[in-house]
Amino acid sequence: MARAPFEIAGVQVKPGTRETVEVPVAKLYTHTPLHIPVEVVHGRRDGPVLMVCGAIHGDEINGVEIIRRVLKNSALRHLRGTLVAVPIVNIFGFVQRTRYLPDRRDLNRCFPGSESGSLGGRIAYLLRTQIMENVSHIIDLHTGAIHRFNLPQIRAELKNPETARMAEAFGAPIIINAGLREGSLRAYADSLDIPVITFEGGEALRFDEVVIASGVKGVMRVMRELEMMPAKKGPKAPRKRSETAANSVWVRADIDGIMRPVAHLGQRVRKGQKLAMVADPFGETEEAITSPCSGIVICVNNLPLVNEGEAIYHVARFDELGEAEKAMDYFRSTYENEVADDAVVPVHPWDEMQK
Ligand SMILES: [Zn+2]
Repeated sequence: MARAPFEIAGVQVKPGTRETVEVPVAKLYTHTPLHIPVEVVHGRRDGPVLMVCGAIHGDEINGVEIIRRVLKNSALRHLRGTLVAVPIVNIFGFVQRTRYLPDRRDLNRCFPGSESGSLGGRIAYLLRTQIMENVSHIIDLHTGAIHRFNLPQIRAELKNPETARMAEAFGAPIIINAGLREGSLRAYADSLDIPVITFEGGEALRFDEVVIASGVKGVMRVMRELEMMPAKKGPKAPRKRSETAANSVWVRADIDGIMRPVAHLGQRVRKGQKLAMVADPFGETEEAITSPCSGIVICVNNLPLVNEGEAIYHVARFDELGEAEKAMDYFRSTYENEVADDAVVPVHPWDEMQK
């Protein structure tokens, strides 16, 4: 029996075809209608229905490029099941280059939302009724906040075995078993029993090639794991790709000042090791920021101007730190020499000189 068409916003996408559908959201006060663009790739054969979405925080743009590259992949012709790609969920924030909605709400705290609620509630309602409630799996793409660069990592509620399987398949070096935050897309999907993982990598308003390349690879690996794509020929990955953190801790500045970073992203650090120096502009008072534990640096603050109490470094702790280091080594070796045809190149020539 032929597969039924996939229906979204009144549009029927036939099996074996793909279509860009404009899901109407609202009107701007200029009378300009606003849509969330969605690309549906509806495979000929039955299989999982995977939603991949980005920019629910409007300034987190790496995911938009990850989705663009996934959609270009010629292997999608052999897709089993359906890919529902939503590169820009928070269109308001994306246009304004901000994380939030025009009423300063965080769309990722507005789920499940309602038809008559706030703007965020209405967009959440639309997203869940038009898309989320018709999919079987979700990958939600994020970056660090502004000035904060996240090491590529997966956050997921690992007690759901299907979620854990997706998290492992994605192959980011670090997995964080992260609790669900009320009102988030992830919490709502989990309440519907839809396996969902969040990918975090890079920082807001910036592209980063390694983050983007690892995100693209991760999405494709999950699709292969779910048998939406044929498995790759050749031997399986010989080495350890991911290690799950026991927990993680934010390291904060004790004094106000100007920060000079010492430790870098992905570095293994010991308890008490210097992460950064903070000094006043004359260098009269100077203090070292040290790591409260051994672990791997999974986020760094790139802004040198810090206030007392500000989060500067995020360090993940592991039961087996050596295993996490192996996962980091594998990650580095995978992306060291691999350059995509349409790679985002570093714009500073001295990035190359420093190698
Ligand atoms: Zn985010």
